[in-house]
Amino acid sequence: MESAVAVPPQEHLEQATILGVPVHRVRMEQALRTIEQLIATRTPHLVITADANAILIALDDPEFRQLMTEAALVTPDGAGLLWAGRYSGQPFPERVSGVDLVWHLTRLSHERGYRLFFVGAAPGVAERARENLLRQFPQAQIVGVHHGYFSAEQEPEVITQIRAARPDVLLIAMGMPRQEKWAHRHRHALNTPVMIGVGGSFDVYAGVVKRAPRWLQQSGLEWLWRLIQDPRKIKKVRNLPRFVWRVMRDAKRR
Ligand code: UDP
Repeated sequence: MESAVAVPPQEHLEQATILGVPVHRVRMEQALRTIEQLIATRTPHLVITADANAILIALDDPEFRQLMTEAALVTPDGAGLLWAGRYSGQPFPERVSGVDLVWHLTRLSHERGYRLFFVGAAPGVAERARENLLRQFPQAQIVGVHHGYFSAEQEPEVITQIRAARPDVLLIAMGMPRQEKWAHRHRHALNTPVMIGVGGSFDVYAGVVKRAPRWLQQSGLEWLWRLIQDPRKIKKVRNLPRFVWRVMRDAKRR
């Protein structure tokens, strides 16, 4: 969307600090408003959807921790992180996940013409996600797609393709923390106002994996559903007790 309108002032977002890592205490509606404000700035910004695993990665990986600290928006995702917010007296209002952000941004694109680019997932998956989302939001401007299994030699061509499509929002599904590091490293070349790491979201919209029924999502057991669908996720689930233990120890110290 090109426009000469004045950039609206960015609102102040409340922040929680989980194990020293900042996460914004936003609702979906506020996150979307912030993203629209970031689009209007026309300069590159990173948005991170953070679950308990993201916090654990940040504790072991200084580069990722720096990105979480400097990101324009870090949204709260996952039952584990929401628990940590409650336990440490800084409750998050609701979950703002990558999967839900993709849906809402496609809806906003349909309504307001924002240009979206999907990069990531296995060959063919982002295309299928695009087709399925367009069935629901036919006017959405999904101006390009590319899979996430390109080589170092192919990388410049992928970046050129994204830049040429002039997206307002780049949705990157290459797993955490790779997607965030990639976005940050190439932010100037990509020249996209909003870059968001959305993990396995394209797999969900392509129908490769099924989203948990709403009652399971609401009961905080979506991780169990994901684990049954993809047993490789056991590593993340195994990390959860470590996260819980560290949050409890951190609260005692304060
Ligand atoms: N992926 C990719 N390129 C890679 C490795 C992974 O595009 O080199 C994709 C993968 O196909 C999947 C997504 O990245 O669609 C990672 O999904 P996951 O749910 O594991 O994301 P996380 O929760 O780790 O962010």
